[in-house]
Amino acid sequence: MGLIVQKFGGSSVADVDKMKLVAGRVIAECDRGNQVVVVVSAMGKTTDNLLSLIAQVTDRPNPREVDMVLATGEQISIAILALVLQTMGRKAISMTGPQVGIITDPFHRKARIRDINTARLREKLDEGHIVIVAGFQGLTQSGQITTLGRGGSDTTAVALAAALHADRCDIYTDVDGVYTTDPRIVPDARKLATITFDEMLELASLGAKVLHNRSVELARNHNVPLQVLSTFSQNPGTLVVKEYTNMEDIVVSGVAYNRDEYKITILGVPDQPGMAAKLFSKIGEANVNIDIIVQNISHRGLSDISFTVGKEDFQNARDVAEQFVKEYGAEGIRTDDAVGKVSIVGVGMRSHGGIAATMFGALAKENINIQMISTSEIKISVVIARADVDRAVQAIHREFELQSEPKLTAR
Ligand code: ADP
Ligand code: ASP
Ligand code: MG
Repeated sequence: MGLIVQKFGGSSVADVDKMKLVAGRVIAECDRGNQVVVVVSAMGKTTDNLLSLIAQVTDRPNPREVDMVLATGEQISIAILALVLQTMGRKAISMTGPQVGIITDPFHRKARIRDINTARLREKLDEGHIVIVAGFQGLTQSGQITTLGRGGSDTTAVALAAALHADRCDIYTDVDGVYTTDPRIVPDARKLATITFDEMLELASLGAKVLHNRSVELARNHNVPLQVLSTFSQNPGTLVVKEYTNMEDIVVSGVAYNRDEYKITILGVPDQPGMAAKLFSKIGEANVNIDIIVQNISHRGLSDISFTVGKEDFQNARDVAEQFVKEYGAEGIRTDDAVGKVSIVGVGMRSHGGIAATMFGALAKENINIQMISTSEIKISVVIARADVDRAVQAIHREFELQSEPKLTAR
């Protein structure tokens, strides 16, 4: 008898009819003789709606209370799915993150799973239950409810698969796999049969919502067999693997984007050793995740430092920047709340040149201005105006001909 973890995202459990389809998927896995743990997200747009509710009260909400509100979304979907399965004659039980024993660190809204005590889960599985677990949530050592960051149900699923030594973790969603880019923006994007953990981790960290980045990291570190497939079709999905043949020859595997970037520039920072260290340690203390950083060449002993952050960190980062300006005599701050980031990812970039030139050329042809650039061994990212993001993704995808099967270079 195997053990399978299945995860179903918000659009897969958006209403009761969809939950019945999900139940069919779960039952099929049980009838193959497997024990099944099911992780679900909140129904449809529930999490967005809960955030809008909070926004009606304040734009600087106490993160503990935010988690308290957000965790309710998943609590509804697990119980409804359990009821659906029970009416179909199956033994099913719903469990919240805290009930399962998912222990996290204390960082509200972006908590990381520290430990999972699987005893209760095992007991329920051994009694013959399908166990339905609320994604995205956990409990701190001191008993506070936390959430794992947007899209975090994927991470709950992979963490459970790792802790239970499951045979597989299947992520069911509204697309039938990982594509060369978001098929909503580029309809002729190509589905990938396989992708490496490293590439998927980059794509996810750079905004490809199809998998939460922490889930990919956990699957890689714990060797969890991971696949992405559709709730609504029988098509084969995408396997996330350690490596595949010819991977060094595929220069660009995918294009990712993130529309939710916010840029903060601190103007006229005294050009002295230690300034950047002071600024970024204060930002670190505020638990703000920084994305791209650029420091301009200094002019008259002053330089500008720009960085980008996600939407959830913007207010906090701005407060820290304003405080820094006062304390260290910088000239002021400028913010831009309408930027986005587009990135290309590919393992083959390590061994091929000219990739940046091709990417920037595609943007130039579209008259899209690049504001910031950041590169690593297997990715290149640019920050541009948010309004240009879709056009940039389409142009870059076209330029690298990602819609067609890659032509492999002879070695
Ligand atoms: P779920 O609610 O099931 O977790 P998400 O909305 O989080 O689903 O993720 C699935 C969505 O990810 C797809 O509908 C698609 O628009 C988007 N997406 C972004 N990049 C990619 C990609 N490279 N391949 C497939 N889907 C992608
Ligand atoms: N419901 C949460 C969200 O919308 C978690 C998830 O769907 O993975 O971000
Ligand atoms: Mg998701």
